[in-house]
Amino acid sequence: MPPPVFRFAPSPNGFLHLGHAFSALLNYELARQSGGRFLLRIEDIDATRCRPEFEAAIHEDLGWLGISWETPVRRQSEHLSDFSAAVEKLSDRGLIYPAFESRAEIARLVNERETASPWPRDPDGAPLYPGAAKSFSAAARRQLIEQGMPYALRLDMAAACAQVPHLNWVEHGEGPDGETGIVAARPGAWGDVILARKETPTSYHLSVVIDDALQGVTDVVRGQDLFWSTSVHRLLQSLLGIPQPAYRHHRLVLDGAGQKLSKSTKATALRELRRDGATPGDIRRLVGFP
Ligand code: GLU
Repeated sequence: MPPPVFRFAPSPNGFLHLGHAFSALLNYELARQSGGRFLLRIEDIDATRCRPEFEAAIHEDLGWLGISWETPVRRQSEHLSDFSAAVEKLSDRGLIYPAFESRAEIARLVNERETASPWPRDPDGAPLYPGAAKSFSAAARRQLIEQGMPYALRLDMAAACAQVPHLNWVEHGEGPDGETGIVAARPGAWGDVILARKETPTSYHLSVVIDDALQGVTDVVRGQDLFWSTSVHRLLQSLLGIPQPAYRHHRLVLDGAGQKLSKSTKATALRELRRDGATPGDIRRLVGFP
């Protein structure tokens, strides 16, 4: 049996906080206990928000915590062709369409719909795609693209779900309502998700699924806030014919007011705590490690 493969996959768009420390330590610990491998992956597809100094800080903060990882570290921005190939594959199956509305236009459409009754929201609370781009003809799409219109490539969720059997996943952790064991995936709850954009040939959902497969990740251990994203990940794995890892969604580290930590809250940033004299042992205790 090959050893299990774990990964910690932060985005370098801010400094790591206590929540990241918990996730990284848990992955590292589970890998160590099972004789497995531990990988660090830099999820830097959003060129507007990711910065080299945050990436350097990720290495420094994790090293300070006593974590070590295999090299070379995979950086998503260096593998865009892997993601384009997957988009191509889904497009060949007729599952992708370009949608041309701006964010403001989408918000306007949702407002308009909501005058009648509440418009459905995805598990993160964002409104489902309200537009009509799916019904555009091939010629109309071509024309808009040739005119240089920005666009997002969306998954035709209804068509995609019709092409796969009922999907589930093995959950070793727990969802927000205590879901555990075999969990039924509900990708339809996300509507026509964006898989790529004109200027970025991928998205979080697509790249995480492709990279976990290419890196042979067997165990995805991450925060409970991503629990229901797993529905979309299972759908993409099934459509693309790639293996499914086991999942363990862990509790989130909350601030004093019971809120999810954010990269913009200085008080819980690892480097601030270190500057104030905290030791790696203090961080372990703060996030509830022995
Ligand atoms: N890059 C994601 C984040 O920083 C995590 C992705 C994952 O673990 O699936 O929230």
